[in-house]
Amino acid sequence: MQRKEFRELTSVEDARILVNGIGMQPKTISILIENSIDHIIAEDIVSRVDVPSFNKSVMDGYAVRAEDTYQASETNSCTVKLIGSVPAGCQDRFFVGDGEAVDISTGAPIPQGADAVVMIEQTKQQGNDISIDRPVHIGENIMRAGSDIMRGERVLRKGTRIGSREIGVLSAIGKREVLVGSVMVGIISTGDELIQPGEPLEPGKIYDTNSYALNAGVIECGATPVIYGIIRDNDLDMEEAIDTAAGECDIVLTSGSTSAGAGDIMYRVIGEKGITLAHGINIKPGKPVVIGLIDGVPTIGLPGNPTSALTIFNEFVAPLIRRAIGASTDPKTVITAVLGTSIRSQGRHQLLPVGLVRGKVYPADKGSGAITTLADADGFIEIRPEIEYMDAGTPVGVTLFGDVTRPDVLFVGGSCPGIDLLEDLTGLRIRVIGAGSSGGFSAISNGTADIAGVNMPDASGEYNMPIIKRMGLSGVVLIKGYRREQGLITRHDSEISKIWDILEHRLINRNRGSGTRALLDIKLGELAGEKGISLREMTSSITGYDSGAKTHRAVCDAIMNGRADVGFGLRSAAGEAGLKFIKVAEEEYDLLVPKHLLDIGEIRALRECLVSEEFAGRLPAGIFVYEDSGKRIEL
Ligand code: AMP
Ligand code: MG
Repeated sequence: MQRKEFRELTSVEDARILVNGIGMQPKTISILIENSIDHIIAEDIVSRVDVPSFNKSVMDGYAVRAEDTYQASETNSCTVKLIGSVPAGCQDRFFVGDGEAVDISTGAPIPQGADAVVMIEQTKQQGNDISIDRPVHIGENIMRAGSDIMRGERVLRKGTRIGSREIGVLSAIGKREVLVGSVMVGIISTGDELIQPGEPLEPGKIYDTNSYALNAGVIECGATPVIYGIIRDNDLDMEEAIDTAAGECDIVLTSGSTSAGAGDIMYRVIGEKGITLAHGINIKPGKPVVIGLIDGVPTIGLPGNPTSALTIFNEFVAPLIRRAIGASTDPKTVITAVLGTSIRSQGRHQLLPVGLVRGKVYPADKGSGAITTLADADGFIEIRPEIEYMDAGTPVGVTLFGDVTRPDVLFVGGSCPGIDLLEDLTGLRIRVIGAGSSGGFSAISNGTADIAGVNMPDASGEYNMPIIKRMGLSGVVLIKGYRREQGLITRHDSEISKIWDILEHRLINRNRGSGTRALLDIKLGELAGEKGISLREMTSSITGYDSGAKTHRAVCDAIMNGRADVGFGLRSAAGEAGLKFIKVAEEEYDLLVPKHLLDIGEIRALRECLVSEEFAGRLPAGIFVYEDSGKRIEL
């Protein structure tokens, strides 16, 4: 038999381009949440319910009217009359009137009329008399409906990998099934020397490692592996196995039989059944790879050496699977460290396994034949083909093994569709913590956020700067963002047309600390001024003023399902929900970043995106860039 030689190795860059060019049809299936672990969510998950769905008690105690307890003290307790009891899970049947109380358990619905729960420990019962020795305020020990998750909130993003926490969220909103990406990956091991783990080892034989390591790798990507077992080194058996796998799966992986040895026939089988896109990549470990297509099914002949097989899997196959399955994140984590020793490299693009000891990098290479090369290493460093020598002390990027998905950027602040768009356009993983503008200012001030989104007006109508000055923030940069139209949101058949109509209707307000709520307060303050009353007097007469929807979308949802008549929020949100919008103001939405992060890659990418034409063009109606967008104010 003729020996095949690798005359023309494909470069790592070209191999990446080639794999990226393979078209994959996204497929989805609906599965039970209990079976969904490690799968990738194929749709945005929006809650159809409030969590909790009713105002509930977080303590064992007595539901009362807070007013009745205001005079209570340890020396002078007050007494209320017990009129019944509400265990968890029951429908509330009671009305708590003045001077009355209902015995309530943790998790039970607050009865009508009551607005606070007194902890059992702060009471004494004598017959039907409950004496209370400490005042409670309105809302104390009550978890309000929707305060965990608001109906209409996007709780999970398309492309997210499902873990126990995600399954917790899915079940909390009542979803029993979830739509996930579906990709089947066939796995074939080849070699006369292979034996299945668990069988006795015979002379000259080794255990099949690749089937199991690749099986796990496929699951880690969120896809479904199908193990076809060990195929002996003969053409017919291999052809049959590959035919079956290519007929049943979306991607086929083989291992072994790809090198230039006489018995290595995988490249020929793939070439005869389909087309060969590459044979041999200029990489170490892993040079003998075949990448082909059989009836449109990507078929990858991985090297037999376990370390090589896994390295090629991680570098070229995992990205293909993740793309096919719609995963939004590439779980690679790269950290910077310095070489603890000098390193020589020869000619090939090397992915050198390394160990990390207190920030210093040491080679952990036992050769590509050893499986413990990878298991004992913490990650690898990439050495380009033209580099022959690296000195101790050279800074290097270490790609860590394992799939810790760390976000690129931690964002805290006011919720905004503009931020979602920045995330989509830059491809960055932005962890958004919707804490309102004031949450954003605090998170920058105490160093926990990388970036804050703020739209906080002060009484003069100036945005953000007055608050920054008042807080005495320094070492920060305010990047002017965009303008947003804010106004009343109502149903189309509503007669509401101007801001003072709020007084006559049920309002769904935003959460305290949100810039949007502050803007409404300013507008209501102006109104109060006209009427010659205080803002407090004004707001206390508004039904629903104390509500606190966490997002614009949740505001719209409350109006759509009739829980409120009017809200205050973005035109874009109203438009998306098909609701009427009456413009009241235009506000400034800015980004606040610590100065030392201004020039890191991620923040730079966001800044560039902010002033790009594509961003301007894709913003929803009611949000627009203007001449100040991208301007920087250093403090
Ligand atoms: P090959 O490309 O078939 O010549 O295989 C290269 C090396 O990898 C040989 O030492 C094989 O014994 C070894 N090898 C091939 N397949 C596996 C496998 N599934 N598990 C462990 N080692 C393997
Ligand atoms: Mg072999």
